[in-house]
Amino acid sequence: MQVADQVPVANSLLAALPDKEYQLLRPRLEQVALSFGEELYHPGEPITQVYFPSDVLVSLLVQAEGHQALEVGLVGREGMLGTPLALGVNASPVGTVVQVAGEALRMSAADFHKEFQRSMPLRREVYWYIYELMIQTTQTAACNRFHLIEARLARWLLMTRDRLRSNRFHLTQELLANMLGVRRVGVTKAAGTLRQRNLISYNRGEITILDDDGLEAAACQCYQIVRGMHNVARG
Ligand SMILES: [Zn+2]
Repeated sequence: MQVADQVPVANSLLAALPDKEYQLLRPRLEQVALSFGEELYHPGEPITQVYFPSDVLVSLLVQAEGHQALEVGLVGREGMLGTPLALGVNASPVGTVVQVAGEALRMSAADFHKEFQRSMPLRREVYWYIYELMIQTTQTAACNRFHLIEARLARWLLMTRDRLRSNRFHLTQELLANMLGVRRVGVTKAAGTLRQRNLISYNRGEITILDDDGLEAAACQCYQIVRGMHNVARG
């Protein structure tokens, strides 16, 4: 097992722990590389590992009868995968698929249970993240129903930028269409508009954000609402 020894810790949830706590967790964390399309959990199946993303980006997907799986959440370095364990549930309610390949720190469910019981700071960070994720998924429900594709696409690109800490990433239009629950032609049109406005460049799946402020102005307010949760005073 390769023991995680990244300094500073790339995952924000782990980085928020007091150093002493993190050092106690370290022997139980294993650095793993996750590839595009990899499914970490299947709905209803047991969770055997939790993941703390470093630079991997993972979609939470739900199935709706007669439609392709729709994204209801996006998880990257700000959070973790396997949160149901913290609530005493040993199965994932959603599917989880890697959208951008990268690395994560992995811990077995058994170890997570032990550490979660032992460590109050870990509990505090995990509960806070679950709350953030709840805000993200509820806001996404409204966003998916009411907001225009162009604004939703801008939001999605900004969420991706924040999690990858990069203005450049590889995403196919097919993938974007699946994530947004729209037809590919809709994504092509929306991406074309953002490109015409010089907010992004798009070439063979290589997306570059050219104008951060402009893209934030083009996104629906859902982006700021969810992002603002990081700044809310915690009780
Ligand atoms: Zn929205």
